[in-house]
Amino acid sequence: DTERSLLVQLTRYGDRQFLIVGRDVTQMEKLETTRKDFVANVSHELRTPLTVLAGFLETVHDLPPESLSDEQREHYYHLMMEQAGRMQALVDDLLTLSTLESSPSTAGTPVRLAPIIDHALRQAKILSKDQHVFVANIDPELQINGIEAELGSAVGNLLTNAVRYTPKDGTITVSWYKTESGQACYSVQDTGIGIASQDIPRLTERFYRVDRGRSRATGGTGLGLAITKHVAMRHGAELNIRSRVGAGSTFSLDFPPSRVIARHA
Ligand code: ADP
Repeated sequence: DTERSLLVQLTRYGDRQFLIVGRDVTQMEKLETTRKDFVANVSHELRTPLTVLAGFLETVHDLPPESLSDEQREHYYHLMMEQAGRMQALVDDLLTLSTLESSPSTAGTPVRLAPIIDHALRQAKILSKDQHVFVANIDPELQINGIEAELGSAVGNLLTNAVRYTPKDGTITVSWYKTESGQACYSVQDTGIGIASQDIPRLTERFYRVDRGRSRATGGTGLGLAITKHVAMRHGAELNIRSRVGAGSTFSLDFPPSRVIARHA
């Protein structure tokens, strides 16, 4: 990564004087590439469900009404709703991401995470269709200063991913506790497919997926971890990822002691 881009400007003053200005534009070029990639990715992610949706609409529209049984009609509607749902999830995540990027950081207000985790666990169990074992070790009183809605989406994202990337009968362990050094830690451990070490640093990039086909099939938008990373940063927290292929992964959000609200204060 040593190659750099230089923009050189040459200005002539009169007959004999020149001014040469060189500017390092490496960072600017990188940002521009990232922006272009992002627009291309969003367009692609939206076009796929839109094409499928338009295809089904055309099919249903072109068929004489009597040639479709109620069951077939239901089936088509279901498929169309699925595609609309994909687009909705993507647009929702994009809006969340852009709000996170544009709103100033705040100290937040005291938030007790236990009810938020409970809510996310209920959602995760629905997604799991009773195919996983859930274990929860939650400190009911532990509070941090933060923004409740943002914390809710980070907590939910990590749990949803654990369900999506853990085969049937796997175990998902959720913990929320204060460490000996005074940090507050939310962690989600799964016994799922795991992640190769070279992929781990890239997981929080927008639309980065280890296995595109598989991730799309699970209904993810490819933005969940980008959102989670942003929420972590805005709370002075670290998103830590440990994983072994075939053995499972642990994602944790570690909040600094300065965010933790002392008990009986
Ligand atoms: P997606 O919507 O694709 O799940 P995320 O940003 O939430 O997007 O995650 C990015 C990628 O990280 C996923 O596509 C998947 O490859 C990988 N990943 C995330 N969580 C896990 C997990 N618990 N186990 C294995 N792989 C995971």
